[in-house]
Amino acid sequence: MSLIVDHMPELGITRLSRWIFNCYVLEGDEGPVVVDPGTRRMALDVASYLGPRAADVHAIVATHGHTDHVGGAPTLSAMTGATVHVAPKTLDYIAGERPPSVPSSALAFAPVLVGQPLDLDVLRSSAGDALRAGYGTPLGWRWTGPAPLGTLTDGVTVPGAGAWTVHSAAGHTPDSVVLWNEEAGVLIAGDAVATARGRALIAPITFDAPAAPATAAHLHALPARHLLPGHGLPLHRVSVW
Ligand SMILES: [Zn+2]
Repeated sequence: MSLIVDHMPELGITRLSRWIFNCYVLEGDEGPVVVDPGTRRMALDVASYLGPRAADVHAIVATHGHTDHVGGAPTLSAMTGATVHVAPKTLDYIAGERPPSVPSSALAFAPVLVGQPLDLDVLRSSAGDALRAGYGTPLGWRWTGPAPLGTLTDGVTVPGAGAWTVHSAAGHTPDSVVLWNEEAGVLIAGDAVATARGRALIAPITFDAPAAPATAAHLHALPARHLLPGHGLPLHRVSVW
């Protein structure tokens, strides 16, 4: 199975995907901004997709610290020279705080697993990739290379992409954020929202149950016409909810 390249030129976004792992390349103000390069394999995919423009990558953004969202970030950072940006809460895990490891439920995620074409390459490599960076494995937090910056606080613009605003979205995890483009009505949701069978599923896996209801209400209030999830196919319609 080869890399899936889903161009959305009207949005200035390309989705690169293998199986359920979506990575988004935004046309930023000062070069590409890469969101959630979750595996080392995806970091290599991003670099080969961008070709000479890989040297222009302005920022690497992670919607939360789970290894399937940041696992490729140190590799891509080393290849491009771009800084990795995470939420401040993610840095607490680098500092030694134990990230939550037991979800309240994961049953709702089952349909997501069969919603995108299986990629055996990524199945084979993901176990090794998971050891490189992030949390969500029994090893706790891991990182290699320069520490990321805790830039992604609630309400700031995304580094190098001024049309996009960071919204805190605790629920899936305490450190989850989403990226919102008000003018274009685009929500890059990380794991705060997945999709399956053409429907939006808010936090189908919830590690931070106390925070989840307020985040669900906040996300529902965003007039999103394009939902770009971390896992699942994008939705494009008058309202994604
Ligand atoms: Zn996650």
